Amino acid sequence: MTNFNTKAFEKLETPFYYYDESLLVRTLDNLVSASKKHNFHVHYALKANANDKILKHIISAGLGADCVSGNEVKKALSIGFSPNNIAFAGVGKSDYEIKVGLEYDIFSFNCESTQELEVINQLAENAGKIARVAIRINPNVNAKTHKYITTGLEENKFGINPWEFETVINLLEKCKSLQLVGLHFHIGSQITDLDVFKSLCIRVNEIQDWFISRHILVEHLNVGGGFGVDYTNVEENLVPDFNSFFQLFADFLELKPGQQLHFELGRSVVAQCGSLISRVLYIKNGQNTNFAILDAGMTELIRPALYQSAHLIQNISRLDHLALHKYDVVGPICESSDCFGKAILLPETKRGDLIAIRTAGAYGEVMSSSYNLRDKANVYYDSDLN
Ligand SMILES: *Cc1c(COP(=O)(O)O)cnc(C)c1O
Repeated sequence: MTNFNTKAFEKLETPFYYYDESLLVRTLDNLVSASKKHNFHVHYALKANANDKILKHIISAGLGADCVSGNEVKKALSIGFSPNNIAFAGVGKSDYEIKVGLEYDIFSFNCESTQELEVINQLAENAGKIARVAIRINPNVNAKTHKYITTGLEENKFGINPWEFETVINLLEKCKSLQLVGLHFHIGSQITDLDVFKSLCIRVNEIQDWFISRHILVEHLNVGGGFGVDYTNVEENLVPDFNSFFQLFADFLELKPGQQLHFELGRSVVAQCGSLISRVLYIKNGQNTNFAILDAGMTELIRPALYQSAHLIQNISRLDHLALHKYDVVGPICESSDCFGKAILLPETKRGDLIAIRTAGAYGEVMSSSYNLRDKANVYYDSDLN
């Protein structure tokens, strides 16, 4: 059970992000023991949350880094991830970003097109380096998640499609400054149906067999991230069930002798440890509904506006009140999509009440913007308030 320190919160300027480091550490312990059982390697996807304090816990737990921009690579290096533990994916890496990766001899460039392979080869040759590359493959597996976070279907911009494999193999033979080290897959995010990962395993086995039939055996397979979290029953599932997740891959993915299996988890590592804390500015009585207007909006947390996602919303000033009323909980931004939830049941809510929007540790603060010239929200950790 999460006990927010509402007394301490009362004194703080809202809105702010609040991170529970002890929950993060518990989550990491759980993840590490579950993955170690199978000798699996986990890289943390920095794009979910790149706060220094959070990254330091992740380094202490021994995870690598999965980056999707040159600045994320630099961030990972500056905070202390070892270069040989950094993978760099992304459908549109600029020359500058590739040069950053080459300069530091990162573990792997996860390449998303044949043209990108040629460009990395050229830039590596110019730098007198051999670039380690994995090819990101589009396996055409439906992640059964929101369409904006589905990445592994033919219609998506990500990855190399199977009909290009022959071209890729011929190209790799010519590219003397590339070393193929892995096959990479990432089919989407917030995947809650484990059967989806089973379908992925079956596809990866088939694709790996095809490459082996062409005498290509890579040192690692990377099945990406995407493991979902529970946005509804938050308290019951504060720590995702990493045991079942990794066990599924142990059961269904056919690794060859000596081959490593890599994961790139973002959301499942950090989502539950973060909450967006905000105050009610106004209550407005509408025709069919009441509006609770908060001082936080889509500028602080864009997921509801962008993906129609639903976060658990709690009035933490009145947790002991039992009678519930319906509110549309909205932000102050001049967009009708700036709405955290419709017909949300809350105790009778008043101006000044503190509202917690839960499961906001992933793709929350990192996606914040200054639209409407808003200030950046403050950030607090449990260690600051005790
Ligand atoms: C975003 C991303 C991830 C992390 O996804 P989560 O759903 O947060 O686990 C992993 N790999 C790649 C290539 C990504 O783009």
